[in-house]
Amino acid sequence: MALIIAKFGGTSVADIQRIENAASKVVREVEAGNKVVVVVSAMSGVTNKLVEYCAQISPMHDLREYDTVVSSGEQVTAGLMAMALQKHGVVARSWLGWQIPIVTDNVHGKARIENIDTNELQKRLDDGEVAVIPGFQGVTGLGRVATLGRGGSDTSAVAMAAALGADRCDIYTDVSGVYTADPRIVPAARKINKIAYEEMLELASLGSKVLQTRSVEMGAKNGVPIQVLSSFDDEIGSDRKGTLVTTEGSIVEAELVSGIAHSSDESKITVLGVRDVPGIAARLFEPLAKAAVNVDMIIQNISADGLTDMTFTVPRAESALAVKTLEKDVDLTYDKITVNDNVSKVSVVGIGMKSHAGVANTMFRTLAEKNINIQVISTSEIKISILIEEDYTELAVRSLHAAYGLDDTDKIA
Ligand code: ADP
Ligand code: ASP
Ligand code: MG
Repeated sequence: MALIIAKFGGTSVADIQRIENAASKVVREVEAGNKVVVVVSAMSGVTNKLVEYCAQISPMHDLREYDTVVSSGEQVTAGLMAMALQKHGVVARSWLGWQIPIVTDNVHGKARIENIDTNELQKRLDDGEVAVIPGFQGVTGLGRVATLGRGGSDTSAVAMAAALGADRCDIYTDVSGVYTADPRIVPAARKINKIAYEEMLELASLGSKVLQTRSVEMGAKNGVPIQVLSSFDDEIGSDRKGTLVTTEGSIVEAELVSGIAHSSDESKITVLGVRDVPGIAARLFEPLAKAAVNVDMIIQNISADGLTDMTFTVPRAESALAVKTLEKDVDLTYDKITVNDNVSKVSVVGIGMKSHAGVANTMFRTLAEKNINIQVISTSEIKISILIEEDYTELAVRSLHAAYGLDDTDKIA
């Protein structure tokens, strides 16, 4: 008998029929003798709609009230899922974040889970009950509902798995696992059977939204085996047909490049005509850090006549704040600031890169052959990222996928 967390994403609970389909997978797990905790997302499109309502009231709305609104989508699905399970004769009960409680910090809109009290849940599980938990939500120490950031139900599920010491956290979604690139962009992408937390963390943070970054972080820290699989395939989690996110050591042969990620969620900001003297980077980036702007890639252009340009990227949602901060708080003279939203970041990720040269070279040659201009480059031990014009994203991802030998030739034929 195993304890399994089964999380169903928005498309997997998009309507009543799909909720019933998801419930039937849980029933099969229970019939196989497993204890199950179900974590559900809001029905597909619901959270977007709720976010839109908040923006319509005011773009500068109170984030505590935003959380009250957007957390409601998951509550609906949790109740419906419990009913669907009961219809199959399974003893099931829904538990909202505050009822467990899942305690978070006070950072509304992107709260972090601090503690989960599992006492009562554990007792119910031992009595054979299935718990259904709305993802994405928790309660702050001050007693207010908080949400965990978009895609946060993945994190709810992995946190639940860690707190309960579950054997596995199954993330049911609308694709059959983690692929070598987003299968919606690269038809020849291959499903990866096993991937290391470290690689998955890079892929997720570089734009592969199949798992929320924080859920992978939490899985790695607590050693939770995470399986990504499709709720539309016949298999259930215990058939082990999805992608297992696990420790590096258990992967027999690490690929040189495991996957390609892309993100169009970037803005490129250039500060033109700053004096090229020691300390300018500190003076530019310290106020941005204080304003909690997430600066990612940085380049300083060559200087002419003692002046230089500084270029860097920030998440698109933070570019207005970045510019405001530069204009208000930076103690520096410059000619002007430009913002370019027509960019995207493409990254190649692989643990095998640690011990191989030439990975970057293949990337640059491939893009050159396609006439794609590289605007900014950044690297780490297991990834190389480049910034390009947004219109070339798909071409770049597909070409790199082929260049690193990742294409599934059966799918191309
Ligand atoms: P859910 O609603 O189930 O949480 P998401 O939309 O958040 O689902 O995540 C699943 C989506 O992630 C897929 O439909 C796919 O388009 C996208 N995706 C991006 N990169 C990858 C990848 N490398 N492997 C699999 N899916 C990916
Ligand atoms: N419903 C939330 C969202 O759309 C959380 C999730 O689905 O993971 O972001
Ligand atoms: Mg998701």
